[in-house]
Amino acid sequence: MIDVTLNTGAAMPQLGFGVWQVPDDDAYTAVKAALEAGYRSIDTARIYENEAGTGRALRDSQIPRDELFVTTKLWNSDQGFDETLRAFDASLERLGLDHVDLYLIHWPVPEQDKYVDSWKAMERLHAEGRAKAIGLSNFTEKTLGRLLASADVVPAVNQIELHPHLAQDRMRELGAEHGIATEAWSPLGQGKELLGEPVLTEIGAAHGKSPAQVVLRWHLQRGTIVIPKSVTPSRIKENIDVFDFELSDEEMGRIGTLDSGSRLGPDPDEMNWLG
Ligand code: NAD
Repeated sequence: MIDVTLNTGAAMPQLGFGVWQVPDDDAYTAVKAALEAGYRSIDTARIYENEAGTGRALRDSQIPRDELFVTTKLWNSDQGFDETLRAFDASLERLGLDHVDLYLIHWPVPEQDKYVDSWKAMERLHAEGRAKAIGLSNFTEKTLGRLLASADVVPAVNQIELHPHLAQDRMRELGAEHGIATEAWSPLGQGKELLGEPVLTEIGAAHGKSPAQVVLRWHLQRGTIVIPKSVTPSRIKENIDVFDFELSDEEMGRIGTLDSGSRLGPDPDEMNWLG
């Protein structure tokens, strides 16, 4: 497993495991399978309603806490200074942990205009050592710029929708300029049209790898953090079996031509849903 060094100095595994849309009981089983397969970084969120099952699997694994990297996220309706502090306590309690490795603002929710206040609370949680690193999700050039203008702590991570159909070069560049690591959500394009792209099948055949493994390798070679999701044990193993081959510059370039700028999720500047 390769680590990325965050701007806090902490090491974050470059490949982790996501649990969006996995019901709590299934999250227990899936996280257990992921830990057995060798994943050490798990990405959950309060809105996924599976922090409890995720936390139980982490604790039952008996893996030392300092070998695990746990991310959860502040939900939109919990934004605001006091609300953030309360929401964080509730997440920790559901997880059954005394700290998380990364706490993210899930969406900026521009209309609500509370992300600057929420960030102040995140900075406090970071200073208290209960959120070892703090970061953002779904921030764009506009919202990131505004947050940075008043932030005392530079976010460690921005987790954004990113896959070969939405390569996000501008946000990756901006992140690099500020020392913010870019993390890809839906790195496999949610297993939809993307994995049917003939170029991925062709490149995969040349390496004895699946289209999903080719896509994950493309992310890793670009330095992006990835958190693919699967509840199928064979795919959980397949998705971490990506450290024994390398894509050539020519192959990376061919995958690069798939970028059409098309999103699977909402435009974060227009996303104001409070859930
Ligand atoms: P993903 O791109 O990881 O795709 C997952 C789907 O792809 C699976 O449900 C399955 O259908 C398919 N799949 C997985 N492995 C496969 C394989 N080896 N071969 C073929 N098909 C395969 O999509 P995702 O779950 O949306 O994203 C990953 C994680 O990102 C989530 O679980 C969550 O933790 C995070 N996420 C965050 C946000 C956010 O707003 N911050 C939004 C969406 C997802």
